[in-house]
Order: sequence, then C-alpha cells, then structure tokens
Amino acid sequence: MEAVNPMRPARVDGWIARLFPPACVLCGAPEQGHDLCGPCSDDLPWIRHGCSRCGRPVPLQAPTGPCGACRWPSAAFSRVVAALVYEYPLDRLVSLCKYQQRIDLGRLLGELLAARIALLAAAPAWTMPDLLLPVPLHPRREAARGFNQAAEIASVAGRRLGLRADARLASRVRETGAQAGLPAAQRARNLRGAFLASPDCAGLRVAVIDDVITTGATAMALASAARAAGALEVECWAVALTW
Ligand SMILES: [Zn+2]
Ligand SMILES: [Zn+2]
Repeated sequence: MEAVNPMRPARVDGWIARLFPPACVLCGAPEQGHDLCGPCSDDLPWIRHGCSRCGRPVPLQAPTGPCGACRWPSAAFSRVVAALVYEYPLDRLVSLCKYQQRIDLGRLLGELLAARIALLAAAPAWTMPDLLLPVPLHPRREAARGFNQAAEIASVAGRRLGLRADARLASRVRETGAQAGLPAAQRARNLRGAFLASPDCAGLRVAVIDDVITTGATAMALASAARAAGALEVECWAVALTW
C-alpha cells in the first residue's frame, strides 16, 4: 500500500494522474499504479529457482545446498538471494537509476526485489531478517548523485515486506574509487575496512541490500563490518546478479 498524504485532497492525485499518467518504463503502455506492465514484467530475466547459497539460477529439480558452481564458499554472509539476472533490461534500468538520477527507478527496483522475496517467503523454512542494511555510498558520492540507490531499494522493499530498513546503521568510511573492471581479489583488497556498521546491529539477523552483485566483494565487505558489529547472521539480497 502506498502511503496517502492526508493533506492532499484525492482530486489532486486524480489531476496528477491525468497530467502524468503512470506508464510502463519499458514499453510506455499506460499502467495504473505500476512502473511496469504485466507482459514486460513477465519478460524480465527472473531467477525463478536460485541456488540456496549463492543465488545463481539452478534447475527446478536441483537439490538444496551449494550448487556445483557455488561462489563465495567462505564468505561472511550465509547466502545470496537475487531477484533477476543482470542483463537487458536490468542493466539499462540500473544505469538510468544511478547515473541519470532516475530515483523513480529505485522504487521499481525495490518492488522487483520485494516481489521475489515475497514468493520465497511462502516456503515454510524461510525466515525473514530483522534489518535491511543498504550498502552505503561514501558521503561525497551520495552528495554528487543526490541519493543512494541501495537505500531507495531497501526502503521500498522494507515497506512492501513489513521489514525494518535503516541506512543509518552503516557508513562508508573510506572512498574506494571505481570498482568496475577490477579483478575480484583486487576489489576485495580495495574494500577492506571501507565500511563501518553500528553496534545497533548487534544480535540482529541482517540482510545487506545492493542493486547488483558482481564479484560479491562489496556485499562481503559490508557483511564483515556487520558481523564485527555483532550481527547474529548476515545474508545478502540484490535486485540482480551478474552471471
Ligand atoms: Zn511494458
Ligand atoms: Zn551456488
């Protein structure tokens, strides 16, 4: 449920909707209250069955537990859950959100993550975390971009799923420069000590939230910081996973 502004008469929402009719961000079809139409959503590269440890797509009949090509065997996090494979149109949506200041796409990405988690949570063995902890940007980077896309995603997904999301419980204490294109080992070295998590994470089951997982180095560095702050268990949720 979207919160309704009690100070704004309903007819104003009606005018706004007529002036700026909600439309599918991919095909432009008019949509009521959604950023994607049904057919475009169905066409997305959803991970319908993911490895219970690393999140990569696996066949429906695959046994639970690590898959044959499992990554991150000794990571600080217990598992990775991703909603989609990072390919078209996810690459386009994420890049528009981050580099063209399309904060509205942060809402869409958060909704996609929440939709996947809601399906998984229907399984009896699933337990929800106590806290969604978005990967923080360095304050200088966040000021330049105007927002942190991971915090947008966490806040939308938290609202949808009824979970606490708090971007203030972790900070990026060191600037690391651009990570794209670096090999995994170098990314991990660059990120050592880059994050600090609040002692308020102590005793909580935490889900680190990021837009895209590539090498996992960023999520792993934040997970280590959360564990150092006393988090009971850390998993990682991402909208998309490179494969
Ligand atoms: Zn569409
Ligand atoms: Zn795996």
